[in-house]
Amino acid sequence: MKCTKCKKKIKTTFLNKIIGTYIKGKPYCKDCQKKINKKIKKITS
Ligand SMILES: [Zn+2]
Repeated sequence: MKCTKCKKKIKTTFLNKIIGTYIKGKPYCKDCQKKINKKIKKITS
């Protein structure tokens, strides 16, 4: 599983969940998730 944005490998938990998030069906790592969340905050505030 690779991050859609930075193409880094996303780690998975033992339950096979990614350490990160899915946005519109695409996987993102935790770092990119943070950046995206900030962007969303900027847009909405
Ligand atoms: Zn990433």
